Amino acid sequence: MTGHQLRLYNSLGRQTEDFTPSADVVGLYSCGPTVYAYQHLGNMRPYVFADTLRRALGWKGIAVRHVVNITDVGHAVADSDTGEDKLELAAAKELRSVEEIAEFYTQDWLAALDALNVQRADVYPRASAYVEQMIEFAVRLEELGYTYQVPSGLYFDTSKSPGYGTLALLDLAGQRETGRVEHVEGRKLGSDFALWRAEEPGVRRIMRWNSPWGWGAPGWHLECSVMSMSLLGEHFDIHTGGVDHRELHHVNEIAQSEAFLDDGRPWVRYWLHNEWVLLDAQKIAKSAGHTLRLADLVEAGYHPMAYRLFLLGGHYRSQLDFTMTAMDAAQATLRRLITRVAPLRPLPNASTLDEARELADGTGDKAALYVEAVDAAIASDLATPKLLAIVQDALRDPEMSVDGLRVVMAAADALLGLRLGDLSLADVDQRRTPSDLAPQEVAAIERLIAERTVARKERNWARADEIRDELDALGVQVTDTAAGPTWQLR
Ligand code: AMP
Ligand code: ZN
Repeated sequence: MTGHQLRLYNSLGRQTEDFTPSADVVGLYSCGPTVYAYQHLGNMRPYVFADTLRRALGWKGIAVRHVVNITDVGHAVADSDTGEDKLELAAAKELRSVEEIAEFYTQDWLAALDALNVQRADVYPRASAYVEQMIEFAVRLEELGYTYQVPSGLYFDTSKSPGYGTLALLDLAGQRETGRVEHVEGRKLGSDFALWRAEEPGVRRIMRWNSPWGWGAPGWHLECSVMSMSLLGEHFDIHTGGVDHRELHHVNEIAQSEAFLDDGRPWVRYWLHNEWVLLDAQKIAKSAGHTLRLADLVEAGYHPMAYRLFLLGGHYRSQLDFTMTAMDAAQATLRRLITRVAPLRPLPNASTLDEARELADGTGDKAALYVEAVDAAIASDLATPKLLAIVQDALRDPEMSVDGLRVVMAAADALLGLRLGDLSLADVDQRRTPSDLAPQEVAAIERLIAERTVARKERNWARADEIRDELDALGVQVTDTAAGPTWQLR
């Protein structure tokens, strides 16, 4: 099998490069969620993206070991090095233990991944289980002379790291001091970061470990270096995450890992980052109070595969505007696709290029050409919009036989993961009518609509818009008529 050379955009160097595995099994590490709250729609993009990458490697016959971490300790509020831990804060707010919080939001996230047909990773290591190894890692950095101690903990001295910031294209002189707001007593450079966050005098953390630098908790960046090396080996091939990580988290992971390994080699060869999902032209973010999640879409009658289709309709390196109109379009497209593909079932197994080629050759029509086009699209930095266009072209092509279409749909879906082989139309069509709602749900909707009418009368457009967004999320479409507003479920 060769086909088209797989090419990926490497953030390290900012160019599209040939991907060549360095081992029989490619190590793939994806930064995972901090499990202190529900994951919103934007948070799901990194995992659908990593899943696409995994499927692409599989298509090329490359075996993968995938690790996705779960951050259940160490992530301070505001991504800073000091202050409260996100999980401890959530536990206090929800009157639950830290363990319960972590478990609850981890399970909710895994359920959303399953609904999105994201293949499970090989391992989901939890940061709290690796603290001893993180301490050993920091001790080694201390021995190598890369650290210094301040009252609030142990810091990594970025001035000792010759390539610091290459991934982020940091201009060292100019940018070292920017990007961070908090003041940390004794910190030498704004880019220096915590390896160990010591307990403040008089404050006892819930999650606390003893270390050579006193009681406390690890810094946020440490876990990914430690867990990836522990589960994938010291060097591995691909590391992924959201584009925010390119600027700080991954920069710091690289600095501490290369210092630790001390072998003059790049730690990880390929760094891939997905762009944002935007809502109202802004990044969907928990800190901005956005909590729209997959469960809300399902509640409003959209199928999770429609959201996957929406995500795949944009290239992973492009920003995507989330709107209900776009979701409606995705739902309608999914519906049409399933209607068209269902009669072709059962689809054969064509999850690798080799399998697809062999099956296509047997059909004697244009299937072989389409399989090559599928291969070209995925090899070109995971061009999923192109893949979707190929699916449509093949379905419309009068020269395609049923057997040929079967092969092309199976091949494309091995990469898209839209469940073209088994999703039923009944599953997709779970639209509700008002009579499906409980009386209190109807009452809540009508209350919101009444509130909106008042807001509009008072010309409070901001509030009216806010209510419309809430109604949107519930799948309620309001129409203003001369007789007042009416509503229906989408
Ligand atoms: P967080 O829990 O905010 O740290 O985010 C978890 C992962 O989701 C990180 O890899 C982020 O880069 C990513 N992420 C957060 N918000 C968005 C968004 N609006 N669109 C795409 N990815 C996001
Ligand atoms: Zn990470």
